[in-house]
Amino acid sequence: MIEAGEPNDLPSLWSHEPHAELMFQPGDKVADIDTEATPGFRGTKSDAPTLQAERNVRFAELQEKLYANSRSGDTRSVLLVLQGMDTAGKGGIVKHVVGGGNPQGIQYRSFGKPTAEELAHHYLWRIRKALPAAGHIGVFDRSHYEDVLIVRVHNLVPPDVWQPRYDEINAFERELVNQGTSIVKVAMFVSLDEQKRRLAARLERPDKYWKYNPADIDERLKWPAYQEAYQAMLDRTSTAYAPWHIVPCNRKWYSRLAITELLIETLKRLNMSWPPPDFDVAAEKKRLASA
Ligand code: AMP
Ligand code: MG
Repeated sequence: MIEAGEPNDLPSLWSHEPHAELMFQPGDKVADIDTEATPGFRGTKSDAPTLQAERNVRFAELQEKLYANSRSGDTRSVLLVLQGMDTAGKGGIVKHVVGGGNPQGIQYRSFGKPTAEELAHHYLWRIRKALPAAGHIGVFDRSHYEDVLIVRVHNLVPPDVWQPRYDEINAFERELVNQGTSIVKVAMFVSLDEQKRRLAARLERPDKYWKYNPADIDERLKWPAYQEAYQAMLDRTSTAYAPWHIVPCNRKWYSRLAITELLIETLKRLNMSWPPPDFDVAAEKKRLASA
């Protein structure tokens, strides 16, 4: 639905609105995801560079509006949650999509293995501390969902500890939405073959070694257990107020375009205009002319 004040500027290369096309539906199966697909997009890879550049500009404009409004008291914010196996392209989204915005209004945070201090607290402790301030777009590169993914797969805590977390996460996100944070949850899926190619490429390039972690292979060997954990995550935590979106990521150009549109759509729904001046523009022009 298009809100007043914001044009429906979805490029015609999209045959379907990505947020609707990619939204998780009850019954969707992780095992059935076609990671090569480009749902809703009728263009090709050759259309991507120009379109991505255009949409980065649109995203940046909306992001600036969100930030500008917070300066005059609007407390709303956006939280982008990126989940995916290694090499799914989370870092690429941060660099090529969110990176098109103004760092002034972006709060990036990646979540790795918890520190001793973090482990001593409730798992949402470090998450709450990283939530976006008013007017900001928070980006979670991994998130509280690790506490029902790697934690479940590796039995880092017993089932009676991780099982209640789905409901707890739903309640937590409900609270965030009630406080004015729009949550954009993106589950990024690559195929096992594509992951192997991407890991191999990292091992060929000294400038990519920093992204490689020998433990990635251990996680890869647990792919079926991860598929099960991702399925449970989608089934249990895709809510009307914070739905998951399933993004096929074998084609990086597609996943970047799609996630850009998810962010643009979310920002447009905030139905923002530029904050009006809290001064007399004509009077200020006169003052400036003679200053
Ligand atoms: P990367 O994102 O490549 O830097 O890797 C971070 C690693 O930290 C991944 O293997 C995550 O699964 C792991 N990690 C993130 N959160 C948690 C958590 N709560 N408990 C255990 N491991 C985690
Ligand atoms: Mg990694």
